[in-house]
Amino acid sequence: MSHNKNLQFDSKCVHSGISDYGFGPVVPPIYQTSTFKFESAEHGAALFKGETEGYIYTRMKNPTVEAMENAVAELEVGHKALGCASGMAAISTIFISLLKSGDHVVCSKSVYGPTLTLLQSIMSKFGVESTFVDTDIDGEIEKAMKPNTKVIYVETPANPMITITDLEAASKIAHKQGALLVVDNTFMSPALQQPFKFGADVILHSMTKFLNGHADVVAGIIVVKDEEMYLSMRKTLNQVGGVIDPFNSFLVHRGLKTLSVRMQRHCENSQLVAEYLENHPKVKWVRYPGLKSHPNYQVGLKQHSAPGGMISFELNGGFKAGEVVMNSVKLCALAVSLGGVETLIQHPASMTHLSMGAEARKDAGITEGLVRLSVGIENVKDIIDDLENALAKIPVTEKAKA
Ligand SMILES: *Cc1c(COP(=O)(O)O)cnc(C)c1O
Repeated sequence: MSHNKNLQFDSKCVHSGISDYGFGPVVPPIYQTSTFKFESAEHGAALFKGETEGYIYTRMKNPTVEAMENAVAELEVGHKALGCASGMAAISTIFISLLKSGDHVVCSKSVYGPTLTLLQSIMSKFGVESTFVDTDIDGEIEKAMKPNTKVIYVETPANPMITITDLEAASKIAHKQGALLVVDNTFMSPALQQPFKFGADVILHSMTKFLNGHADVVAGIIVVKDEEMYLSMRKTLNQVGGVIDPFNSFLVHRGLKTLSVRMQRHCENSQLVAEYLENHPKVKWVRYPGLKSHPNYQVGLKQHSAPGGMISFELNGGFKAGEVVMNSVKLCALAVSLGGVETLIQHPASMTHLSMGAEARKDAGITEGLVRLSVGIENVKDIIDDLENALAKIPVTEKAKA
């Protein structure tokens, strides 16, 4: 594994996490077993005491899972990683591990929905208090800090406005009082953004998205910087139990091999789609980190190497226009989630956020014509043609009502 350290990122994607499995397989075999036999009573005892290397039980450690964990740790340039059953399993394990009653969290307002709910309605039951702020706005994190703030939690870029938080600035604020910066790096992946370089203490991913990249697995991962943090996180994960299974680990590991080339195409396509949309008369505005019109464009240049695959835009014509586009696209799939090879389109007002009602949506900043695109790796001409046809179906009269 150590010779990989000198490789370029794309080479690491292909080679990371592979060790010797006896027969010389090029990819890690799937050790689909719940438990491992001990050679003797003494061997079992030594394993439990941690005096010898080996495997005991798959919730604790499994070779297929370990291979994938090592690969992600290498790609994030971290110490070790912990595979989880989902992104949310990773996030809840982190909170349970790092926080105790009486602690305070400063969290991005525009964070993944269930993360917000986890802090607001579950962690609060255990005496952990949270403040939600616009972490992309200078000075907002600092204002929200309290003497008992133990964690600053950010997602960048974040839904729904693709807001960008300055990681270096956030880590400085955290470290000034011994708090930790936890970063959800799902939207960029380590191919485009490596938060440890900017002072992050813990990184997590929903591997359901770009890391696996093929929309066929739900999984998550935690990446840490040192052994002490690793051991305490591992203990929590082992006891809370939200571990990934060997088969899903195998699939994610396979997905990782093409991460670099996939991200390159996601970015190339997204840039062209974003520019196309920005010049379209039926589109009010576009948010994409690769557009100079993005309010945090400069911060983005500092911390990511390319702008990613996620675009938000607002249609002239509001709710109705959104419905028309959803019902007119053919190539783009109407679906939540993101980061797969296929282009996905979503209209929060008529889909994920419909039940909230128009008033609550307005309060949450979810506008009626907001559309979110996860741009896939198809030929960009086909994606743009599909959007062109769908946008043409919006009645011109709707534009006036915008
Ligand atoms: C999807 C997602 C999650 C949650 O991950 P699951 O794998 O669905 O549990 C967390 N953060 C971000 C940014 C996501 O997009």
